[in-house]
Amino acid sequence: EEMTGKNFIEQIIEKDIAEGKVPKIVTRFPPEPNGYLHIGHAKSILLNYGLAKQYGGQFNLRFDDTNPTKEKTEFVESILADVKWLGADFGDRVFFASNYFDQMYEAAIKLIKKGKAYVCDLTPDEIREYRGTLTEPGKNSPYRDRSIEENLDLFERMKNGEFPDGSKVLRAKIDMASPNINMRDPIIYRIARMNHHNTGDKWCIYPMYDFAHPIEDAIEGVTHSICTLEFEDHRPLYDWVVMELGYKDSPDGTPKQIEFAKLYLTNVITGKRYIKKLVEDGIVDGWDDPRLVSIAALRRRGFTPSAIKKFMELVGISKSQSSVDYAMLEYCVRDDLKLTAKRYMAVVDPVKLVIDNYPEDQVEYLDVENNQENEELGSRKVAFSKYLYIEREDFMEEPPKKYFRLFPGNEVRLKNAYFVKCVGFEKDEDGNVTTIHCTYDPETRSGSGFEGRKVKGTIHWVSAESAIDAEVRLYENIIDEEKGKLNDDGTLNLNPNSLVIKQGCKLEKAFEDAQPGEAFQFLRNGFFCVDSKDSTSEHPVYNRIVSLKSSYKP
Ligand code: ATP
Ligand code: MG
Ligand code: MG
Repeated sequence: EEMTGKNFIEQIIEKDIAEGKVPKIVTRFPPEPNGYLHIGHAKSILLNYGLAKQYGGQFNLRFDDTNPTKEKTEFVESILADVKWLGADFGDRVFFASNYFDQMYEAAIKLIKKGKAYVCDLTPDEIREYRGTLTEPGKNSPYRDRSIEENLDLFERMKNGEFPDGSKVLRAKIDMASPNINMRDPIIYRIARMNHHNTGDKWCIYPMYDFAHPIEDAIEGVTHSICTLEFEDHRPLYDWVVMELGYKDSPDGTPKQIEFAKLYLTNVITGKRYIKKLVEDGIVDGWDDPRLVSIAALRRRGFTPSAIKKFMELVGISKSQSSVDYAMLEYCVRDDLKLTAKRYMAVVDPVKLVIDNYPEDQVEYLDVENNQENEELGSRKVAFSKYLYIEREDFMEEPPKKYFRLFPGNEVRLKNAYFVKCVGFEKDEDGNVTTIHCTYDPETRSGSGFEGRKVKGTIHWVSAESAIDAEVRLYENIIDEEKGKLNDDGTLNLNPNSLVIKQGCKLEKAFEDAQPGEAFQFLRNGFFCVDSKDSTSEHPVYNRIVSLKSSYKP
């Protein structure tokens, strides 16, 4: 692996191509439409799509909708949008497993005719008991030796609705003594009267995952069926189904199942039941709350597809389970936005600053580059006037050592503008600073080449006459990272500061052209994006994507 730099899946695919087993590879992403996709699914999507692209193959999106209980059309829509947003282009290759129910039924009949499947009347408890354990072989069902004719007749009557739910199942006839419990005559069809979102009430029997999935792959010509590690010991059954149905001659043919380790992020919640509770308890604002890691939440938070892709490349593909630090994902988005986001000035916690010696009604317009590291982003005019806002934390009445920002008597640079010197300040009766007074030196304008003296601090600001009022939402991990994910009683260990809302923030005028979802760097602060759900032109709302400082070192 070290030698070629290829991961184990690429090696398998390259060998199959070299041996002429596959003229063209076909991969798929097979979500069950029973919830929103999360960052873990993104790994599978980008892996399958990336491999198809890399080897000139095809990528399918297939809804694995064979289990009607929890499926909803709403989830189909959100999954389509999320996969597209990630850039995994499936073209018109969108499939629904439920469209193959007829073929699956025919496949079951084929097995019965080969003497490889039988209808079993044991109760679920009895089936479990007969199955044996890891150390003890199972026993044959008393129905195992039913004749082919009887099985064909019973299976047809199962389909026709002649038997109650759960009273009979169709089982593959494999080996009750197999060391692999999955091979001990697994159930392949069950009776269940459930309305299906696609097929309605047409069926009262439904295929089980281990039988349906390999057939779905085979029908679509999928060559490499990539799934996560928990299916490793289902692979012999996958191969059995595909071979018994005549789709391949040996386990090494295609379609073949390949397993890799799931992506886990440290101190991040992906479990549906936890998220459902957070939504129901009103702790988060729906499944796309920017503190969650559903794809919809990451999008709303301002994470970009290319940052997510870069993250997946850094994490890599492996067969051993491990957990990745969330800070690595933040590193990737920071790295991605560094050159692509415009850098504007925004004051999140404003205090007034008055330039005493600046003319009352004058406004001048300074030429400012939008991103000093990327000329292509152009430049803008920034208004400067007598009345400004600066960050409250950029002024101190009694500064500690090494505080180089504003304090009485000290001079700093106003970013892109002039040197200003603090000559006084005002307080309200509670002792809060309300206004800071400065004088400016017209000689020191940025870009003028002034060399007369130096200042140690540079602070950002926004001109009051054209400032835009905004709400800014500051996010932290929803989990208290110090203490880990769960409390002793199994409840989530929530961080009380995971969302801090700031009202009355002041943005420079250039922000008026911001589009929903657009990301910016707030100078000296972090990356922020327009909240695509709540922001309006009357009341702009910005989400903090990530601060500028990193705890992750690549
Ligand atoms: P969840 O229960 O979290 O929704 P799931 O496995 O039930 O996950 P599916 O809809 O069955 O979700 O998954 C679709 C595909 O996504 C499967 O191929 C599955 O292996 C893959 N997948 C799910 N979670 C992860 C993860 N954490 N890392 C990588 N791939 C994943
Ligand atoms: Mg799922
Ligand atoms: Mg699943």
